[in-house]
Amino acid sequence: MGRAFVYVILGGGVAAGYAALEFSRRGIAPGELCIISEEATAPYERPALSKGFLLPEAPARLPAFHTCVGSNDQRLTPKWYTEQGIELILGTQVKSADVNRKTLTTATGETISYKTLIIATGARALKLEEFGVRGSDAENVCYLRNLADATRLVNTMQTCNEENAVVIGGGYIGMECAAALVTNRIKVTMVFPEAHCMARLFTPKIADFYEAYYESKGVNFIKGTVLSSFENYSDGKVTAVVLRDGTRVPTNMVVVGIGIRPNTGLFEGQLVIEKGGIKVNGRMQSSNSSVYAVGDVATFPVKLFGNECRRLEHVDSARKSARHAVSAILSPDKTSDFDYLPFFYSRVFTLSWQFYGDNTGEVIHYGDFLAGRFGAYWVNKGRIVGAFLEGGNREEYEAIANAVKLKMVAQDKGEVEKLGVEFVSNV
Ligand code: FAD
Ligand code: NDP
Repeated sequence: MGRAFVYVILGGGVAAGYAALEFSRRGIAPGELCIISEEATAPYERPALSKGFLLPEAPARLPAFHTCVGSNDQRLTPKWYTEQGIELILGTQVKSADVNRKTLTTATGETISYKTLIIATGARALKLEEFGVRGSDAENVCYLRNLADATRLVNTMQTCNEENAVVIGGGYIGMECAAALVTNRIKVTMVFPEAHCMARLFTPKIADFYEAYYESKGVNFIKGTVLSSFENYSDGKVTAVVLRDGTRVPTNMVVVGIGIRPNTGLFEGQLVIEKGGIKVNGRMQSSNSSVYAVGDVATFPVKLFGNECRRLEHVDSARKSARHAVSAILSPDKTSDFDYLPFFYSRVFTLSWQFYGDNTGEVIHYGDFLAGRFGAYWVNKGRIVGAFLEGGNREEYEAIANAVKLKMVAQDKGEVEKLGVEFVSNV
């Protein structure tokens, strides 16, 4: 038994939602497109899960954050998909794929065939077990990747009234969840192996600002060490974490954010994999011409970086790569190679930052770090290749983005440092 579609999107996350809207705008016939997703929900804006969803008051709940509200576009409810004749095959895991026969097989044994496939399988959260620590299955240990995880996290927080939490990992999940826990009046200890938080992006000076801010909210940092074991996980609930340096931290709950792995497994040995993702060209097309890949799972050439291939794990890249793939599929002659400006952001407490480009080269910090109005430029061969700004307004963020896009010349370090955002405001 089986069904056949012209277009199949495998995965029902952010990229799938944006691809569906693009298909509908460019024009497809009812019944031509289906989305297959392991999740039981129509595509939604995943970033909401570590922000509005975790608020103690008036939290965001579906259907409010279905894609594509995150870019102020149409909200695609299940009804919208029905009206468009787009089939949503939800709660369904694809277990195997055959790119030569152009088929996918689901966990229930159904075969779904396609003419063109878009892989949008995203990524999975890394588990502590992959680092030799047991206990991920304890009742009060939480990960955060999907709606089910977020619901579990909210329920666990509710059992921890004004008690303690340990957050493992100093990356995006760690920082955003620590802020959410504090907002829920839970005392937080953050543990991570690096010398400072957000080590892959932040400079020590930038990290110092956020760490001091978090400390002012009562967060305790234990840096340069990792978890070695949990106490009592076999009883169902962890009561303390034990660190490699011997420190024991009693806790009522644990949140783990130690990175992700792209979901490439179905295609290994069938498609070219690079930097952990499915390698695609500037049209988001993989080594098999009928198969495209978008979002977290895709490794694509970034024109701005001399076509160096990158895999980006951020929502803007998922949205734009998905639209680009659909454009390349439906309007091949009018679609040139993807020209993407990498963009990352976060919002915690009342803080908000944006980053554009690449954090390589010499760093020039600017602004007032005490007042929370500051930033940095990364300068390579005399040109701006990356820009960070905390607390900017729309025009300022646009200005730093443009400066990176145009690789603005920045020869005089003193002038750049003195003028800060103004240095790029007339680009
Ligand atoms: P996903 O959105 O992860 O979707 C993948 C989908 O594929 C899922 O529905 C999954 O169940 C499904 N799937 C996977 N394998 C199979 C299979 N075999 N069969 C069926 N279905 C399958 N980025 C930012 O830039 N800013 C943010 O503020 C931000 N916040 C975030 C907060 C959280 C809590 C998380 C987890 C991520 C956040 N991100 C943020 C990252 C951003 O959400 C991702 O980059 C984006 O979701 C990637 O989109 P995607 O469609 O590639 O993957
Ligand atoms: P990140 O890669 O951002 O951070 C993982 C952190 O965990 C790093 O500090 C890492 O250190 C550390 N780590 C790795 N192994 C261990 C270990 N054994 N013990 C303790 N710490 C460890 O991943 P996250 O899990 O924070 O985020 C998951 C995904 O969600 C990412 O794709 C991210 O982009 C996305 N996300 C994005 C947001 C945003 O853009 N605003 C918000 C929330 C999530 P090291 O660097 O040394 O490996």
